[in-house]
Amino acid sequence: MESETGGTTGRTDDGRLKVLLPLPFDAPLDYLPGELKLGPGDIVRVPLGGRDVTGVVWDSSGHQAARPVAASRLRPVIEKIDVPALCDVTRRFVDWVANYTLTPAGSVLRMVLSTPAALAPAPVKQLYVNTGPPPARLTPGRRQVLDVLVDQKPRGVREIAEIAMVGEGVVRGLVDAGTLRPVTVSVDAPFTPPDPAVAGPVLTPGQATAADALVDAVRAREFAPILLEGVTGSGKTEVYFEAVAAALAEDAAQVLVLLPEIALTSQWLERFEARFGAAPVEWHSDLSQAERRRAWRAVARGEARVVVGARSALFLPFCALRLIIVDEEHDPSFKQEDGVIYQARDMAVVRARLGALPVVLASATPSLETLYNVAAGRYRRLHLPDRHGDAELPAVTTIDMRRVAPERGRFLAPPLVEALDATFRAGEQALLFLNRRGYAPLTLCRTCGHRFECPNCSAWLVEHRYQGRLMCHHCGYEQTPPAACPACEAEDTLVACGPGVERIAEEVAERFPDARRLVLSSDMAQSPARLAAAIASITNHQVDCVIGTQMVTKGYHFPRLTLVGVVDADLGLAGGDLRAAERTYQQLAQVAGRAGREALKGRVLLQTYMPEHPVMAALISGDREAFIAAEMAAREAQGMPPYGRLAALILSGEDGEAVARLARRLGRTAPRGDGIAVLGPVTAPMAMVRGRHRWRLLMKARRDVPIQKEIRAWLARAGGEKGVRVVVDIDPYSFL
Ligand code: ADP
Ligand code: ZN
Repeated sequence: MESETGGTTGRTDDGRLKVLLPLPFDAPLDYLPGELKLGPGDIVRVPLGGRDVTGVVWDSSGHQAARPVAASRLRPVIEKIDVPALCDVTRRFVDWVANYTLTPAGSVLRMVLSTPAALAPAPVKQLYVNTGPPPARLTPGRRQVLDVLVDQKPRGVREIAEIAMVGEGVVRGLVDAGTLRPVTVSVDAPFTPPDPAVAGPVLTPGQATAADALVDAVRAREFAPILLEGVTGSGKTEVYFEAVAAALAEDAAQVLVLLPEIALTSQWLERFEARFGAAPVEWHSDLSQAERRRAWRAVARGEARVVVGARSALFLPFCALRLIIVDEEHDPSFKQEDGVIYQARDMAVVRARLGALPVVLASATPSLETLYNVAAGRYRRLHLPDRHGDAELPAVTTIDMRRVAPERGRFLAPPLVEALDATFRAGEQALLFLNRRGYAPLTLCRTCGHRFECPNCSAWLVEHRYQGRLMCHHCGYEQTPPAACPACEAEDTLVACGPGVERIAEEVAERFPDARRLVLSSDMAQSPARLAAAIASITNHQVDCVIGTQMVTKGYHFPRLTLVGVVDADLGLAGGDLRAAERTYQQLAQVAGRAGREALKGRVLLQTYMPEHPVMAALISGDREAFIAAEMAAREAQGMPPYGRLAALILSGEDGEAVARLARRLGRTAPRGDGIAVLGPVTAPMAMVRGRHRWRLLMKARRDVPIQKEIRAWLARAGGEKGVRVVVDIDPYSFL
């Protein structure tokens, strides 16, 4: 654990005020309070150079003490902004995250102040009520207006005119006459609070035990990290809803629910609303500026009681947070990979510790990090062993692709084709899973072997046949497939290699022309409405066969889905990443969990060239414990997380020579010593991204090594190189 810094007043002896700005500064800057009465957490506008910046009165000095500025050069705060002060826990959280991730505190604060519109004066609108004296002259039009306004509900001029069926001039006349009096209201409608008194389903005894434990933890108001583990469909959501209800029953308490990839949660939102009679406050990147403003202010004022969001919701200005839930805690999308690099699940635990509250990590396939913390006695584990009701876990079998290969140019092996046929005949639904967007991951020329590569990245261009484009999934570069090979100029020689979901959909169409198909990938998540409609069409059985990427693995509940076919179960095992086996297991177990969620029995077929691989064996036998134990032992033997710690340095720049120079210098000046090893420098597997050359170093350390301190000193020793960016990734999940 890192130490926490700081005094308590935000003010130094000579009356200076420390203000942290949402800019990449490590420490707050000094200002004078002027006539203002200010305390820590107050949001203020201050001058910086020639402009005004919004910052926060801070009460710790950060890691590098700011250079003291002569008192005569200090400038006064311009104004205090009319929003609630950032509370103590939020400020300590910003400092903690900054210190842990080696990011300037100001950059972390920037995530808190992410919504400038929320800090501007509250936008208001002018409405009118009939509270003045009656007009001297009462025309029929005026009478109509007054009739409309008898309910005393404030309304705008246009609205009144429309309802009363008069011109706006009539309404304005009554305003001028003093009959209609103006009232000023915020344009942001308040959120309806969820109602904890609505009863949930009757829980099974096993569920009730877990729910009681969570409710007790909420009432205890202490830091309590809890793993809520149970197979998909065991009722984890119902159980943690009880904890949400318990928190809501307390005065003013706020709850945060983090979900991976919020666009996927239409079903979750519907369930929440059905249970609590009101929608939660959503927080994610698809919100409009006005929605962000409304949500941010409601959180800061404590009016938002339950917030559901993607990882960035962790940095909202909560003032009365009592409970955090991280659903699908193993999901890799909790790791933020750009800007401030952090693992939201881990930071949720930190936030809970600083705020002395329970944090519930829910998953059917918990991460090894979390299981390690359970084994070490740091986290408590609550376990739901069975699926709810009659639903049984689906039977999992492999299809050995070495023995029963598909025909040339096809990707579905005969046993899977037969299973699809039987499923469609029974009037049930099938899901084919392949974690690859587009039509084909590689296009090449049959004559000369030329491969289509992104001009900016070390990556093949992926063909998207629906859109008629070749695209780079790393930088967004795209082009139309040319008629002739750009290398040998032969015509009509381009061939697609390997399948993406679009190509599997094509094969399904050829084999089963009557089956109604739907391709579901993140291409669709760009439009939440379209995605919600697609999900509804599956639930309503307007679709027979879903062909999807990892989009479909998460949390959905499709009652008539009985067959899951995994097109390439080996895909995630390639590449030798530290968590490849763990992640493949989690992903395949999640997708398998989509089958047979109600009375209909489900089955899962895995197409694989490695049926004896431990991941496949664990999925078939259902013996997850053995798989986890073997995986843990391997990590321990190598000193890898969760036993040891990793930190990556990623260097990038347009000048490849300069990047290589700094990489070598970092290699020479690398920390050595007991419990530390530095691997590299090496050119990154993605050696070029967006036209920038990339190198990597990886530091492996024993858990007791203060890696932040080591890295700070290391970077200082090595110095910089013009035009070369060094990104530090603590606890890396990507090694590309
Ligand atoms: P998980 O979150 O573990 O995947 P859910 O909470 O989504 O499980 O539960 C799976 C399904 O079973 C949901 O439709 C849920 O409403 C239902 N369910 C779970 N527990 C109960 C219960 N005790 N009574 C009625 N329905 C339940
Ligand atoms: Zn690219």
